Amino acid sequence: MTAITVDGLTKYYGDFAAVDGISFEVPDGQVVAVLGPNGAGKTTTLEILEGFAEATSGQVQVLGANPRRGGRAWRSRIGLVLQSTSLETEPTIAELLTLFARLYPNPRPIEEVLDLIDLTVEAKVRVGTLSGGQQRRVDLGLAMIGNPDLLFLDEPTTGLDPEARRRCWATIERLNGSGTTILLTTHYLDEADKLADRVLVLSAGRLVADMTPAAMRASSGVSLVRLPVPPGIALPPSLACHVIGQELAFQTDQVVPVLTELISWADRSGVGLTGLEVGPPSLEDVYLSITRKDAVHV
Ligand code: ATP
Repeated sequence: MTAITVDGLTKYYGDFAAVDGISFEVPDGQVVAVLGPNGAGKTTTLEILEGFAEATSGQVQVLGANPRRGGRAWRSRIGLVLQSTSLETEPTIAELLTLFARLYPNPRPIEEVLDLIDLTVEAKVRVGTLSGGQQRRVDLGLAMIGNPDLLFLDEPTTGLDPEARRRCWATIERLNGSGTTILLTTHYLDEADKLADRVLVLSAGRLVADMTPAAMRASSGVSLVRLPVPPGIALPPSLACHVIGQELAFQTDQVVPVLTELISWADRSGVGLTGLEVGPPSLEDVYLSITRKDAVHV
Protein backbone atom coordinates (compact mmCIF):
# COMPACT_ATOMS: atom_id res chain seq x y z
CA MET A 1 0.00 0.00 0.00
CA THR A 2 1.02 3.60 -0.55
CA ALA A 3 0.80 5.86 2.48
CA ILE A 4 1.33 9.12 0.56
CA THR A 5 0.85 10.01 -3.11
CA VAL A 6 1.74 13.50 -4.33
CA ASP A 7 1.18 14.34 -7.99
CA GLY A 8 2.04 17.73 -9.49
CA LEU A 9 1.64 19.56 -6.18
CA THR A 10 1.97 23.35 -6.26
CA LYS A 11 1.42 25.94 -3.59
CA TYR A 12 1.43 29.64 -4.42
CA TYR A 13 1.58 32.50 -1.96
CA GLY A 14 0.47 35.39 -4.18
CA ASP A 15 2.51 34.82 -7.34
CA PHE A 16 5.38 33.13 -5.45
CA ALA A 17 5.59 29.34 -5.92
CA ALA A 18 6.62 27.93 -2.51
CA VAL A 19 6.04 24.40 -3.92
CA ASP A 20 6.40 24.08 -7.66
CA GLY A 21 4.94 20.94 -9.23
CA ILE A 22 6.40 18.12 -7.14
CA SER A 23 5.45 14.42 -7.38
CA PHE A 24 6.49 11.51 -5.17
CA GLU A 25 5.15 8.49 -3.32
CA VAL A 26 5.81 7.08 0.13
CA PRO A 27 5.07 3.35 0.44
CA ASP A 28 3.80 1.98 3.76
CA GLY A 29 6.57 1.30 6.26
CA GLN A 30 9.24 3.58 4.77
CA VAL A 31 11.14 6.38 6.49
CA VAL A 32 11.50 9.25 4.04
CA ALA A 33 13.59 12.35 4.79
CA VAL A 34 12.78 15.64 3.08
CA LEU A 35 15.90 17.79 2.77
CA GLY A 36 16.44 21.25 1.34
CA PRO A 37 17.80 24.69 2.17
CA ASN A 38 15.82 27.20 4.23
CA GLY A 39 12.72 28.24 2.30
CA ALA A 40 12.84 25.24 -0.07
CA GLY A 41 9.20 24.34 0.66
CA LYS A 42 9.57 21.44 3.11
CA THR A 43 7.24 22.72 5.83
CA THR A 44 4.71 23.94 3.25
CA THR A 45 4.64 20.43 1.73
CA LEU A 46 4.19 18.84 5.15
CA GLU A 47 1.40 21.29 6.05
CA ILE A 48 -0.48 20.32 2.89
CA LEU A 49 -0.02 16.60 3.58
CA GLU A 50 -1.19 17.12 7.17
CA GLY A 51 -4.32 18.94 5.95
CA PHE A 52 -3.43 22.31 7.50
CA ALA A 53 -2.88 24.11 4.17
CA GLU A 54 -4.70 23.94 0.85
CA ALA A 55 -2.76 23.05 -2.32
CA THR A 56 -3.04 25.52 -5.18
CA SER A 57 -3.08 22.63 -7.66
CA GLY A 58 -2.12 18.97 -7.93
CA GLN A 59 -3.33 15.79 -6.27
CA VAL A 60 -2.48 14.66 -2.73
CA GLN A 61 -3.60 11.40 -1.11
CA VAL A 62 -2.61 10.56 2.47
CA LEU A 63 -3.73 7.21 3.87
CA GLY A 64 -6.25 7.01 1.04
CA ALA A 65 -7.87 10.41 1.65
CA ASN A 66 -7.59 14.03 0.59
CA PRO A 67 -6.02 15.58 3.73
CA ARG A 68 -8.41 18.58 3.58
CA ARG A 69 -11.38 16.21 3.81
CA GLY A 70 -9.94 13.56 6.16
CA GLY A 71 -12.33 13.16 9.08
CA ARG A 72 -11.73 12.33 12.72
CA ALA A 73 -10.95 8.66 12.04
CA TRP A 74 -8.39 9.65 9.37
CA ARG A 75 -6.77 12.22 11.68
CA SER A 76 -6.47 9.67 14.50
CA ARG A 77 -4.25 7.55 12.21
CA ILE A 78 -1.74 10.39 11.84
CA GLY A 79 0.85 11.67 14.34
CA LEU A 80 2.53 15.07 14.16
CA VAL A 81 5.65 16.63 15.59
CA LEU A 82 5.59 20.26 14.49
CA GLN A 83 8.72 22.38 14.03
CA SER A 84 8.11 24.09 17.36
CA THR A 85 5.62 23.19 20.04
CA SER A 86 4.90 24.48 23.50
CA LEU A 87 4.02 21.75 25.94
CA GLU A 88 1.88 22.12 29.06
CA THR A 89 4.42 22.53 31.85
CA GLU A 90 2.39 21.67 34.98
CA PRO A 91 1.47 17.98 34.42
CA THR A 92 3.92 15.12 34.71
CA ILE A 93 4.91 13.24 31.57
CA ALA A 94 2.59 10.35 32.45
CA GLU A 95 -0.33 12.72 33.16
CA LEU A 96 0.12 14.54 29.86
CA LEU A 97 0.31 11.28 27.89
CA THR A 98 -2.81 9.98 29.69
CA LEU A 99 -4.69 13.19 28.81
CA PHE A 100 -3.81 12.87 25.14
CA ALA A 101 -4.49 9.12 25.05
CA ARG A 102 -8.17 9.85 25.81
CA LEU A 103 -8.47 11.71 22.49
CA TYR A 104 -7.81 8.56 20.43
CA PRO A 105 -9.92 5.47 19.75
CA ASN A 106 -6.98 3.06 19.91
CA PRO A 107 -4.20 4.60 22.01
CA ARG A 108 -0.87 2.95 22.72
CA PRO A 109 -0.43 1.94 26.36
CA ILE A 110 1.28 4.76 28.33
CA GLU A 111 4.03 2.39 29.56
CA GLU A 112 4.84 1.42 25.98
CA VAL A 113 5.13 5.07 24.93
CA LEU A 114 7.31 5.90 27.95
CA ASP A 115 9.54 3.00 27.01
CA LEU A 116 9.68 4.05 23.32
CA ILE A 117 10.70 7.61 24.23
CA ASP A 118 13.08 6.33 26.90
CA LEU A 119 11.48 8.35 29.72
CA THR A 120 10.11 5.58 31.95
CA VAL A 121 12.23 6.67 34.91
CA GLU A 122 11.09 10.30 34.49
CA ALA A 123 7.36 9.43 34.13
CA LYS A 124 6.40 11.36 37.28
CA VAL A 125 8.55 14.40 36.55
CA ARG A 126 6.78 17.67 35.66
CA VAL A 127 7.13 18.49 31.97
CA GLY A 128 8.26 22.07 32.75
CA THR A 129 11.37 20.82 34.55
CA LEU A 130 12.60 18.58 31.71
CA SER A 131 15.56 19.43 29.46
CA GLY A 132 14.97 20.53 25.86
CA GLY A 133 15.92 17.09 24.58
CA GLN A 134 13.58 15.32 27.01
CA GLN A 135 10.73 17.71 26.05
CA ARG A 136 11.33 16.91 22.37
CA ARG A 137 10.94 13.23 23.22
CA VAL A 138 7.67 14.06 25.02
CA ASP A 139 6.57 15.75 21.73
CA LEU A 140 7.36 12.46 20.00
CA GLY A 141 5.45 10.56 22.70
CA LEU A 142 2.34 12.72 22.16
CA ALA A 143 2.63 12.18 18.40
CA MET A 144 2.67 8.40 18.81
CA ILE A 145 0.17 8.00 21.65
CA GLY A 146 -2.71 7.56 19.18
CA ASN A 147 -0.92 4.57 17.62
CA PRO A 148 -0.59 6.33 14.23
CA ASP A 149 0.05 4.54 10.94
CA LEU A 150 1.85 7.64 9.65
CA LEU A 151 4.04 10.12 11.50
CA PHE A 152 5.12 13.56 10.27
CA LEU A 153 8.22 14.92 12.01
CA ASP A 154 9.25 18.49 11.16
CA GLU A 155 12.89 18.91 12.23
CA PRO A 156 12.50 16.57 15.21
CA THR A 157 16.05 16.98 16.54
CA THR A 158 16.92 20.61 15.78
CA GLY A 159 18.71 22.19 18.73
CA LEU A 160 19.39 18.92 20.55
CA ASP A 161 22.82 17.86 21.73
CA PRO A 162 24.42 14.84 20.00
CA GLU A 163 23.40 12.40 22.76
CA ALA A 164 19.77 13.64 22.78
CA ARG A 165 19.63 13.41 18.98
CA ARG A 166 20.79 9.81 19.11
CA ARG A 167 18.09 8.97 21.65
CA CYS A 168 15.50 10.56 19.34
CA TRP A 169 16.86 8.53 16.43
CA ALA A 170 16.56 5.33 18.47
CA THR A 171 12.92 6.17 19.22
CA ILE A 172 12.20 6.87 15.54
CA GLU A 173 13.86 3.60 14.52
CA ARG A 174 11.87 1.62 17.07
CA LEU A 175 8.63 3.25 15.91
CA ASN A 176 9.39 2.44 12.31
CA GLY A 177 10.30 -1.09 13.41
CA SER A 178 6.78 -1.43 14.78
CA GLY A 179 5.37 -0.55 11.33
CA THR A 180 4.88 3.23 11.40
CA THR A 181 5.53 5.08 8.14
CA ILE A 182 7.55 8.25 8.79
CA LEU A 183 8.04 11.44 6.77
CA LEU A 184 10.54 13.78 8.38
CA THR A 185 12.27 17.02 7.49
CA THR A 186 15.79 17.67 8.67
CA HIS A 187 18.81 19.88 8.08
CA TYR A 188 21.11 17.14 9.42
CA LEU A 189 22.50 14.96 6.65
CA ASP A 190 23.78 12.38 9.14
CA GLU A 191 20.21 12.11 10.46
CA ALA A 192 18.86 11.43 6.97
CA ASP A 193 21.68 8.96 6.34
CA LYS A 194 20.99 7.11 9.59
CA LEU A 195 17.18 7.00 9.46
CA ALA A 196 15.92 7.32 5.91
CA ASP A 197 15.16 4.60 3.38
CA ARG A 198 14.77 7.41 0.88
CA VAL A 199 15.77 11.04 0.62
CA LEU A 200 13.81 13.75 -1.20
CA VAL A 201 15.70 16.98 -1.89
CA LEU A 202 13.66 20.13 -2.43
CA SER A 203 15.23 23.28 -3.81
CA ALA A 204 13.26 26.47 -4.45
CA GLY A 205 10.00 24.50 -4.37
CA ARG A 206 11.12 21.84 -6.85
CA LEU A 207 12.02 18.20 -6.24
CA VAL A 208 15.62 17.84 -7.41
CA ALA A 209 16.44 14.36 -6.04
CA ASP A 210 14.47 11.30 -4.90
CA MET A 211 16.68 8.32 -4.07
CA THR A 212 18.21 6.18 -1.34
CA PRO A 213 21.09 7.73 0.64
CA ALA A 214 23.48 5.18 -0.91
CA ALA A 215 22.32 6.01 -4.45
CA MET A 216 22.66 9.71 -3.67
CA ARG A 217 26.25 9.24 -2.54
CA ALA A 218 27.04 7.19 -5.66
CA SER A 219 25.19 9.64 -7.95
CA SER A 220 27.89 12.26 -7.71
CA GLY A 221 30.40 10.05 -9.53
CA VAL A 222 33.18 11.79 -7.61
CA SER A 223 35.62 10.69 -4.92
CA LEU A 224 37.18 12.60 -2.08
CA VAL A 225 40.98 12.71 -1.82
CA ARG A 226 42.34 14.18 1.41
CA LEU A 227 45.83 14.65 2.78
CA PRO A 228 46.81 16.45 6.00
CA VAL A 229 49.45 19.14 5.25
CA PRO A 230 52.24 19.64 7.78
CA PRO A 231 52.51 23.32 8.88
CA GLY A 232 55.13 25.48 7.11
CA ILE A 233 55.35 23.35 3.96
CA ALA A 234 55.45 25.31 0.67
CA LEU A 235 52.90 24.07 -1.87
CA PRO A 236 52.88 24.71 -5.64
CA PRO A 237 49.95 26.94 -6.68
CA SER A 238 48.16 23.99 -8.35
CA LEU A 239 47.92 22.32 -4.93
CA ALA A 240 47.75 25.42 -2.71
CA CYS A 241 44.32 26.27 -4.12
CA HIS A 242 42.98 22.97 -2.71
CA VAL A 243 43.97 23.65 0.90
CA ILE A 244 41.00 23.68 3.27
CA GLY A 245 42.00 24.21 6.90
CA GLN A 246 44.97 21.94 7.61
CA GLU A 247 44.48 19.60 4.67
CA LEU A 248 44.49 19.25 0.92
CA ALA A 249 41.02 18.23 -0.21
CA PHE A 250 39.92 17.30 -3.74
CA GLN A 251 36.46 16.33 -4.89
CA THR A 252 37.19 14.75 -8.23
CA ASP A 253 36.16 12.22 -10.86
CA GLN A 254 39.84 12.05 -11.91
CA VAL A 255 41.43 10.28 -8.94
CA VAL A 256 44.52 8.95 -10.74
CA PRO A 257 45.88 12.33 -11.99
CA VAL A 258 45.24 13.87 -8.55
CA LEU A 259 47.12 11.05 -6.81
CA THR A 260 49.92 11.22 -9.38
CA GLU A 261 50.38 14.93 -8.71
CA LEU A 262 50.30 14.39 -4.95
CA ILE A 263 52.81 11.55 -5.05
CA SER A 264 55.17 13.47 -7.31
CA TRP A 265 55.01 16.56 -5.04
CA ALA A 266 55.48 14.40 -1.92
CA ASP A 267 58.50 12.74 -3.52
CA ARG A 268 60.09 16.09 -4.48
CA SER A 269 59.44 17.67 -1.09
CA GLY A 270 60.24 14.69 1.13
CA VAL A 271 56.72 14.77 2.63
CA GLY A 272 55.22 11.48 3.78
CA LEU A 273 51.72 10.49 2.64
CA THR A 274 50.61 9.42 6.11
CA GLY A 275 46.95 10.24 6.49
CA LEU A 276 46.16 10.12 2.74
CA GLU A 277 42.52 9.12 2.26
CA VAL A 278 40.58 8.26 -0.89
CA GLY A 279 36.88 7.53 -0.53
CA PRO A 280 33.32 8.36 -1.49
CA PRO A 281 31.97 11.82 -0.67
CA SER A 282 29.71 12.20 2.35
CA LEU A 283 25.96 12.58 1.85
CA GLU A 284 26.43 16.20 2.90
CA ASP A 285 29.00 16.82 0.12
CA VAL A 286 26.61 15.41 -2.50
CA TYR A 287 23.64 17.28 -1.04
CA LEU A 288 25.56 20.56 -1.18
CA SER A 289 26.64 19.96 -4.76
CA ILE A 290 23.03 19.13 -5.80
CA THR A 291 21.51 22.18 -4.11
CA ARG A 292 24.29 24.56 -5.25
CA LYS A 293 24.08 23.34 -8.85
CA ASP A 294 20.31 23.76 -8.73
CA ALA A 295 20.59 27.27 -7.27
CA VAL A 296 22.76 28.27 -10.27
CA HIS A 297 19.98 27.18 -12.67
CA VAL A 298 17.14 28.96 -10.85
P1 ATP B 1 13.06 25.97 6.65
O1 ATP B 1 14.15 24.97 6.39
O2 ATP B 1 13.60 27.33 6.87
O3 ATP B 1 12.05 25.52 7.67
P2 ATP B 1 11.21 25.23 4.49
O4 ATP B 1 11.87 24.43 3.41
O5 ATP B 1 10.38 24.48 5.48
O6 ATP B 1 12.29 26.14 5.20
P3 ATP B 1 8.81 26.71 3.94
O7 ATP B 1 8.54 27.09 5.37
O8 ATP B 1 7.97 25.65 3.34
O9 ATP B 1 10.34 26.34 3.74
O10 ATP B 1 8.69 28.03 3.06
C1 ATP B 1 8.82 28.00 1.63
C2 ATP B 1 8.70 29.42 1.10
O11 ATP B 1 7.35 29.84 1.22
C3 ATP B 1 9.55 30.44 1.84
O12 ATP B 1 10.07 31.35 0.90
C4 ATP B 1 8.56 31.10 2.77
O13 ATP B 1 8.93 32.45 3.02
C5 ATP B 1 7.28 31.05 1.95
N1 ATP B 1 6.09 30.98 2.82
C6 ATP B 1 5.80 30.02 3.72
N2 ATP B 1 4.63 30.26 4.34
C7 ATP B 1 4.16 31.42 3.81
C8 ATP B 1 2.99 32.21 4.01
N3 ATP B 1 2.07 31.84 4.90
N4 ATP B 1 2.86 33.32 3.28
C9 ATP B 1 3.78 33.71 2.37
N5 ATP B 1 4.91 33.01 2.10
C10 ATP B 1 5.10 31.89 2.82
